[in-house]
Amino acid sequence: MEIRPEQLEKWDKEHFWHPFTQMKVYREEENIIFERGEGVYLWDIYGKRYIDAISSLWCNVHGHNHPKLNNALMRQLCKVAHTTTLGSSNVPAILLAKRLSEIAPEGLTKVFYSEDGAEAVEIALKMAYHYWRNKGEERRVFITLSEAYHGDTIGAVSVGGIDLFHGTYRDLLFETIRLPSPYLYCKKEFGELSPTCMADLVMKLQELLRARRDVVAVVLESGIQAAAGMLPYPKGFMREVRELTKRNNVLLIVDEVATGFGRTGTMFYCQQEGITPDFMCLGKGITGGYLPLAATLTTDEVFEAFLGEFGEAKHFYHGHTYTGNNLACSVALANLDLFEEEKTLDRLKPKIELLTERLKEFWELEHVGDIRQLGFMAGIELVRDKERGEPFPYGERTGFKVAKLCWERGVFLRPLGDVMVLMMPLVISEEDISYVLDVLKDSIRKIAKL
Ligand SMILES: *Cc1c(COP(=O)(O)O)cnc(C)c1O
Repeated sequence: MEIRPEQLEKWDKEHFWHPFTQMKVYREEENIIFERGEGVYLWDIYGKRYIDAISSLWCNVHGHNHPKLNNALMRQLCKVAHTTTLGSSNVPAILLAKRLSEIAPEGLTKVFYSEDGAEAVEIALKMAYHYWRNKGEERRVFITLSEAYHGDTIGAVSVGGIDLFHGTYRDLLFETIRLPSPYLYCKKEFGELSPTCMADLVMKLQELLRARRDVVAVVLESGIQAAAGMLPYPKGFMREVRELTKRNNVLLIVDEVATGFGRTGTMFYCQQEGITPDFMCLGKGITGGYLPLAATLTTDEVFEAFLGEFGEAKHFYHGHTYTGNNLACSVALANLDLFEEEKTLDRLKPKIELLTERLKEFWELEHVGDIRQLGFMAGIELVRDKERGEPFPYGERTGFKVAKLCWERGVFLRPLGDVMVLMMPLVISEEDISYVLDVLKDSIRKIAKL
């Protein structure tokens, strides 16, 4: 039975409560209901085509409906869709754990699965806390950054720093100490991401680590605070943090959920800084954007602190029904195969250069206040007054209105407030990149008429 588009739209509004969505406004508007995809294109229920310029919320890598990913899934589906990994194992989960530890920064040899980025962070937080307990130390505080985003479960919200998302839940959260957001701090105090600013931030961290003996871990996103509006760190910042945490015997949790799987030009951003954290959290691109899967990678050192006789009860009492799901792991393996077979990262290099070149044109636009980029991730910040850096009022939804203009011309975007986010699938062609940028530029020009 074919269901009419109008019927779907009605049921969508009657029954489906959408994430990060003001449903009153959503129900008053026309929305896109996607029906199918191929490559970087998506089609809605009316047959209108869009370029998926945000990789379906930052997770699609090799395009939609990819024959090799589909085949991997179908092969696994004919064997079994899911078997538990609580005390037993399955073939794709084993193979993927081995593969991930091979491509991860040296020393991250252990893989703990979950389903979403927030859980990968949640697990790192619990493991880090538990690690010190098992070592006989009582530590309880995490050091985080202002404007951080690590997902929406309570632990991940505790280490988050975006007041708009997280402020409401303040009373439910555990204690953290926040350092300023590197980008915002450096821009405000030093005018740029300079080495002096970095030294200043590192000093602040050093003082904190000297003052407190109960720090479990420093938690940060890798390379860029993406959800806060694409705010990159100064180059070398993470290496300094790694040095300091090592010297002070504190753990380092790096969240690569957004940056992992090629988004910054290398498989993981940690590799550009040449560091191995104690925990690396992965999600989003891990299955090429196909299925919910996440992973928390850690070291032998952490793993061994949980070893003991059964009766000692030192083990990690944490798991989910679908931990290490067979289908998700098999498509994740095929995702990694594609990176090799199609030389995805080599072919990405000229596209990053093209993006950098073309973004320069946006500086001329009246309402563009800032442009930020890390690899293939970019944000264009819209402001009402460029000279004074004055934002548009929050309720006006300027970014969203610009995105809607792009939808009309077949470019699917979802901004973060008034930051226009570009996070295109890694396989997008140069021609499509140019089209996306042309449409976005024209749409920003139309702000005055909105
Ligand atoms: C998206 C994101 C998360 C949360 O992942 P979910 O799969 O949405 O739970 C965590 N950290 C970062 C850096 C992210 O971008």
